Amino acid sequence: MRTPFIAGNWKMNKTLAEALTLASELTEALRDVTKAEVALCPPFISIAAVKAVIAAAPSGSAIKLGAQNMHFEPKGAFTGEIAPTMLQGLVDYVILGHSERRQIFGEDDRMVNRKVQAALSHGLRPILCVGETLAENESGHTEAVLERQIREGVMGVTQVQAQNLVVAYEPIWAIGTGRAATPDDAQRRCWFVRNELRKQLGDVADAIRIQYGGSVTPTNAAEILSKPDIDGALVGGASLKSADFAAIVKAA
Ligand code: PEP
Repeated sequence: MRTPFIAGNWKMNKTLAEALTLASELTEALRDVTKAEVALCPPFISIAAVKAVIAAAPSGSAIKLGAQNMHFEPKGAFTGEIAPTMLQGLVDYVILGHSERRQIFGEDDRMVNRKVQAALSHGLRPILCVGETLAENESGHTEAVLERQIREGVMGVTQVQAQNLVVAYEPIWAIGTGRAATPDDAQRRCWFVRNELRKQLGDVADAIRIQYGGSVTPTNAAEILSKPDIDGALVGGASLKSADFAAIVKAA
């Protein structure tokens, strides 16, 4: 059985003060959640403070933390970057290869793969993002894109390491547009992703959680999350409002 996993990607939103407010609201709103795993991915500068809010929650909180990106080297002259060694002990998860990193910051499959390998070898759990553009979708290239992103993304990952891998299928045309994939299409693509993971990694693919991401809201979450190969959601916009994010977690 794969435990449903909902992660909130706050992107470049929330000042430190706002992050603390959102984290407090969420520890309260999610205090009874036991059946789903939840991770918050604030901007780097707020991670430690959000961690302290979660740790101090009077009712105790099982909420975990994730980073939104990471460099693949353990240290060095990489101005503005954050190393895996800096995230150890601070977060459980790290989002890697998000389409905004790929499209705006030029990350390619090779770089994403180096990050995935670095995360795993430092005991961090990667959320490897894959997904096609609108043009790729409309020209019938979705499966070829997903096949390449998975094959190159998990290169060199062992079957044992793969138990700590999460994959997020995020069609780029659905991110932040209010136009989510239909639940059936999302299931079909997540099934395809699992099949590609099986080709690369073997039967451990059945244990890897695959999230859907792209305009998930409290309204569409339950149906999307009811699909057999969709094991959770990576949530952007709706993770910035505590009531919306809590409703999505509860749907899981
Ligand atoms: C995302 O950026 O990963 C995402 C899914 O964003 P949104 O939920 O806003 O579409």
